[in-house]
Amino acid sequence: MENFDLNKLVRETVKDLKPYSSARDEYVSDGSEMIFLDANENPFENGVNRYPDPQQRSLKTLLAKQLKVSEENILLGNGSDEVLDLIFRAFCEPNQDNVITLPPTYGMYKVLSDINAIENREVLLTTDFEPDVSVILNTADEKSKATFVCSPNNPTGNAFSQERIKLLLENFNGLVIIDEAYIDFSANESWVSCLENYPNLIVTQTLSKAYGMAGIRLGVCYASKEIISILNKIKPPYNVNQLTQDRALDRVVASKQVKAEVERILKERDLLVEALKGLSFVETIYPSDANFLLVKVDNADQRYQELLEANVVVRNRSNQPLCENTLRFTVGTLEENKKLMAILKEIG
Ligand SMILES: *Cc1c(COP(=O)(O)O)cnc(C)c1O
Repeated sequence: MENFDLNKLVRETVKDLKPYSSARDEYVSDGSEMIFLDANENPFENGVNRYPDPQQRSLKTLLAKQLKVSEENILLGNGSDEVLDLIFRAFCEPNQDNVITLPPTYGMYKVLSDINAIENREVLLTTDFEPDVSVILNTADEKSKATFVCSPNNPTGNAFSQERIKLLLENFNGLVIIDEAYIDFSANESWVSCLENYPNLIVTQTLSKAYGMAGIRLGVCYASKEIISILNKIKPPYNVNQLTQDRALDRVVASKQVKAEVERILKERDLLVEALKGLSFVETIYPSDANFLLVKVDNADQRYQELLEANVVVRNRSNQPLCENTLRFTVGTLEENKKLMAILKEIG
């Protein structure tokens, strides 16, 4: 991206903003024994009586090492939903700017556009669920601040062609946000390794899926130092709490265990595909690079209800474009998948 100018994308209010400076922002530890009388905390130790590190340094150091980036390329948020919201608030001027999304895709991009009063220009995926880059580029104008690319995509499950994403990164004049919530289930490499090549690239990841930590709410954003420092200006000072930082640190250290669980989930997914193929009401099982399957059935509303009556909750995605009569199945444990298949055979 030759004529990319980050300065032109940032909202004026954010450019001029002086961020809130918290007590723990001003003081940096040199390891000496200190007495902290700066933040009006309760002095009696209970593990969480102190404010957490607003820059989450320990966690960033570990992630930076694992992904071979600098800590300054990382911002952490209260789930990737907070990270995505920060991107809107830093770059998109309400009632003026627009973003581009690629349905069928993750519903939060549209919700966040609406919350932030930003026009959401929808460019449908092609029938084989790939981004139509020439239509995206034709849809963009000088007010198009960002395109949200979810790869592997939710709800379709596929990772997008890397060539197409590259074409978009090279030709779109705004930010390209690649949502990699499911990257650990995919054979594709993360785009984080390409940060140096694309000043307009933002990659978001999460501990909610492969890392099995949806309950702690931790989202990760990787981008150029310039983009990260803009997002840092507007993030709430203590947006990642101490309990989350502690649990995330333990889990990221145990990356071998995470990998082993991912392997088990992928094995279960493949078994589920084979079993689903034998059902008369299943029409298409779409290829998946994620921990879920999008499945076209004869009548999604009916099958959804039948499953619900058997105490199985799946997601009916039929109201999404290109997803008529589809259900989305998350891959569960061996036992859960066995029960699911028994029920599906019964209703079929
Ligand atoms: C589940 C999911 C997320 C996760 O969001 P968190 O707020 O980190 O839990 C992000 N993007 C997509 C596409 C998802 O499916």
